[in-house]
Amino acid sequence: MSQQHEQAVPDSPETDIAIIGGGMVGAALAALFACANPRWSITLIEAFPLPADDAPVYQPSYDDRSTAIAHGSVALLSQVGVWEQLSQHATPIEQVHVSDKGHIGGAVIDRHKVGVDALGYVVPNAWIGRVLISHLRAQGNVTLVSPAQVKQLTPVAGGALLQVEAEGRVSDVPAQLAVIADGAQSRLRASLGIDVDEQDYRQTAIIANIGLEQPHQGIAYERFTDEGPMAMLPLGGSVQGRSCALVWTQPSDQAEAVLALSDEEFLSRLQQRFGFRLGPLISVGKRDSYPLTLSIAKEQIRSSVVVMGNAAHFLHPVAGQGFNLAVRDCAALAATLAQAGDRPLGSLSLLQAYWSQQALDQQATIHFSDQLTKLFTSSKLPQAALRGLGFVGLECLPPAKQWLTLQTMGKANRQVVL
Ligand SMILES: Cc1cc2nc3c(=O)[nH]c(=O)nc-3n(C[C@H](O)[C@H](O)[C@H](O)COP(=O)(O)OP(=O)(O)OC[C@H]3O[C@@H](n4cnc5c(N)ncnc54)[C@H](O)[C@@H]3O)c2cc1C
Repeated sequence: MSQQHEQAVPDSPETDIAIIGGGMVGAALAALFACANPRWSITLIEAFPLPADDAPVYQPSYDDRSTAIAHGSVALLSQVGVWEQLSQHATPIEQVHVSDKGHIGGAVIDRHKVGVDALGYVVPNAWIGRVLISHLRAQGNVTLVSPAQVKQLTPVAGGALLQVEAEGRVSDVPAQLAVIADGAQSRLRASLGIDVDEQDYRQTAIIANIGLEQPHQGIAYERFTDEGPMAMLPLGGSVQGRSCALVWTQPSDQAEAVLALSDEEFLSRLQQRFGFRLGPLISVGKRDSYPLTLSIAKEQIRSSVVVMGNAAHFLHPVAGQGFNLAVRDCAALAATLAQAGDRPLGSLSLLQAYWSQQALDQQATIHFSDQLTKLFTSSKLPQAALRGLGFVGLECLPPAKQWLTLQTMGKANRQVVL
């Protein structure tokens, strides 16, 4: 199958690789696969209508959030050929300021000291969706099936069989490899009996775009408070931008009340928690909320099946690692499958090779984002003591700061090359 088409019901169902879920990770994976080998046929199945080129349609992954794309992910997205277009609405991160409310000191990571054009970029999710999907529409070896829902996934000899429902009809789609990228509440992962290790942070992330009186100068702020961490990421396409993407974590039992505040009350409370680093905060856009858990699939590979993205690991968002880690997973899988030779793409030995490459990166990244969150919200003595030393210690300790810098840039662990 090499002809590009988009349809509600698969008409030529057999495919080399079926990806279930056209969110940020499923779509990025399809782009990486299409680039890794133009001879593979790739079918991406998404339950919601995919964003149109000219009129964005609401889709859960491509909502009002923005994503900090780390330096390492930018390199991978450039190789695929989507970064040039993504960069049209990308705001460069010149510096990251990390601080702890009520404690002196703080760490500053500066792109000049690291010797890069930007530490990363902030891109609105809606734009990521439009660019990725329009890129996939132009690939000869990718078929987009949407809106359509995968009702069942069954491992069979030599591959996997998907039951796809669209327009009231159910079709069978056989694939050599099925990738489950259907989100944190993955129904298909559960249907295969794959369990998750789950930890409820009892926190909820409130997101909104915040208008500023003065330019943000390309500075991203991560601020840790006793209520939970908050991030303000620069938006607007340049360092002169006057808006930021807020991720404000609240204890879950207080989130409803914060969401219900008037705009004026919300801004005043935010200003009090965040301070005046960005000058006066003057407007707030639509607010949304996301309950936070750490959720990790106990298995990510089986013969002919891989679990990816939020279905594989759902992280606390404040360190900006979830999508970046998933992009590295996707690139590692594409690079491993490119070495398949005569082996079927779902061969367990290939998938084990992928997993042995990515396991360490996943463990380190998950540990980093989990510990960062706990270090600054815990009242337990050792953590509270460390917190007292906090970022003063970090500034005085070059290896620790270098590690924080590399992790923030998505480069602390192994680098994947397509
Ligand atoms: C507030 C917040 C801020 C964040 N900020 C950052 C950041 O700055 N940097 C970063 O790296 N990460 C960030 N993340 C993490 C990032 O958003 C996730 O890693 C990413 O959205 C995961 O995408 P996904 O495609 O795996 O899952 P999802 O976005 O949940 O997409 C799953 C898709 O599968 C579809 N689907 C489900 N079931 C089926 C089915 N049966 N058949 C067909 N389709 C199906 C759904 O419709 C959906 O489109 C943030 C997360 C949050 C909550």
